[in-house]
Amino acid sequence: MLIGIREGEGRLGRKRKKSAASPPPPRLNLLSSAEMSLFGFGNRNLKTFRPKKNAPSGNKGVQLRKYIDATLGSGNIKEAVRLPAGENLNEWLAVNTIDFFNQANLLYGSLTEFCTPTTCSTMSAGPTVEYRWADGVKIIKPIEVSAPKYMEYLMDWIEAQLDDESIFPQRIGSPFPPNFQEIIKTIFKRLFRVYAHIYHSHFQKIIFLKEEAHLNTSFKHFIFFTREFKLIDKRELAPLHDLVESILHAY
Ligand SMILES: [Zn+2]
Repeated sequence: MLIGIREGEGRLGRKRKKSAASPPPPRLNLLSSAEMSLFGFGNRNLKTFRPKKNAPSGNKGVQLRKYIDATLGSGNIKEAVRLPAGENLNEWLAVNTIDFFNQANLLYGSLTEFCTPTTCSTMSAGPTVEYRWADGVKIIKPIEVSAPKYMEYLMDWIEAQLDDESIFPQRIGSPFPPNFQEIIKTIFKRLFRVYAHIYHSHFQKIIFLKEEAHLNTSFKHFIFFTREFKLIDKRELAPLHDLVESILHAY
């Protein structure tokens, strides 16, 4: 499992759906539990760290996660993102979406005491990029909010998609909706903004927390995955253009 935080322990106290049949998913990141606690994960981020425990399609999702773990663990990042032979594309996208959500949530969760309405009054990614929040349903006209508020909207929105069984079916054989890949693209576009804000505004703190290897590994995996399945427009990546290029050229 990710770390020793159980569902429902977050300070927000929200009720989490339990899926008793699913065993805890294996960790996607490359840190051991001991390393995670060494890095301070697990005791500083209760507020926003809300790991998803339910793998899509039960055991199938768990199997795919094991495959990701094994290939990533062997250091083969290109192989780790590729659709495994004979597997369903949407299933593969779903499992990875949940894992990237968990990773971004965990990384940002470690920064909540440093990312406040005072330090980050807007959701920026460098001096020239500022994101405004709209979900197209409850908030149509984009609103300017602080970075922590934006993150709250963003994580809540993604979590609502992941919890919606008409989008992320839990039962084997249940169909994915026809617009599944469009939804996935929006999720990944928004997850990128979490990385962009962390790199631009909090990288010194990440170094201080000794989380930079974890952040870099996670982002590298994210970039290769989104490239493999063409999930994010190139212009969306502009705030981290140099970093993205260096990642892609290093392989
Ligand atoms: Zn911030």
